[in-house]
Amino acid sequence: MNAAVPRKGLLERLAEGPVICAEGYLFEFERRGYLQAGAYVPEVVLEHPELVAQLHREFVHAGSDVVEAFTYYAHREKLKLIGREGELADINRRALTIAKQVAAEHGSLVAGNICNTGVYVEDKPTSHDAARAMFDEQIGWAIEAGVDFIIGETYSHGGEALIAVERLKRSGLASVVTLAIHRSGTTREGWDVAETCKKLADAGADVVGLNCARGPATMLPLLERIRRAVRCPVAALPVPYRTTEREPNFQSLTDPSCSCLPGEEARAFPIALDPFTCNRFEIAEFTKAAIALDIRYLGVCCGAGPHHVRAMAEALGRQPPASRYSADMSKHYILGSHQSFRRENLDYAKRI
Ligand SMILES: [Zn+2]
Repeated sequence: MNAAVPRKGLLERLAEGPVICAEGYLFEFERRGYLQAGAYVPEVVLEHPELVAQLHREFVHAGSDVVEAFTYYAHREKLKLIGREGELADINRRALTIAKQVAAEHGSLVAGNICNTGVYVEDKPTSHDAARAMFDEQIGWAIEAGVDFIIGETYSHGGEALIAVERLKRSGLASVVTLAIHRSGTTREGWDVAETCKKLADAGADVVGLNCARGPATMLPLLERIRRAVRCPVAALPVPYRTTEREPNFQSLTDPSCSCLPGEEARAFPIALDPFTCNRFEIAEFTKAAIALDIRYLGVCCGAGPHHVRAMAEALGRQPPASRYSADMSKHYILGSHQSFRRENLDYAKRI
């Protein structure tokens, strides 16, 4: 890369057009058997760093512009839960180093990451200080690693998101701060989503919006209101699940057609969500709808696979490296149309 031409940062890229940030690392590694559902601590960073690097590469191959360091839930509270608090600095530094390495291979942006702490309680100021301290230590490691920007995500309390903005602002780096909105359609304090995003932007977040919890169908109406409420770029990273008006977040999805789910509630979250997974066409439709609203920071959260990211990139008119293998059903021996195909097979099309 020519040193005289500095790489464009996040905000410059957003000023020119959309930016894709692939997420969903926790769910993907849980599926693959490298971390535990429930605790959801990214232990794979310590045990199998090569797999983390590989998944970063797969997401970039599929069209992600950003390599997000896998420090989600690599915070003090979560590491304490699994008895590995002593490895807090190590897991953060290693995750950041891996992300930086992969980003350097491809000229991608590299992002640090902080998230909901689990300690924040609305009317308990000491818990706010605890959250502040947890943010500061992770932000410190991200700065030390030289990230391009920092993501603060999955806040269901507006108050906790505001504290994240306050600490991120001190870093001097660009920030993306997103809320996770559950059943009520408001933050946990009952704050309006658009007004909360406005507060976050006014407090200094560079990009505000939503991630996780809601699927495309139930995130879009909220995004529309957020877009109208703020002037800064808006972020949209839904989970790739078919949420509905009645069950608007993936935590509330029930699967009555399955009789073997544990518990009384038929709750599919988090490890029985498979039948609700959005297909690529649905992710492409969401992407187009978001772009029509001028929502430019895009991604897919928990549950996402590289195929979803590629569908998003292609919906933006891009051809990431993985597009070399995008579907071409004209080459299918029964459903296709290639001149070499046998009439007997093509005639069988209506019967398969
Ligand atoms: Zn998520």
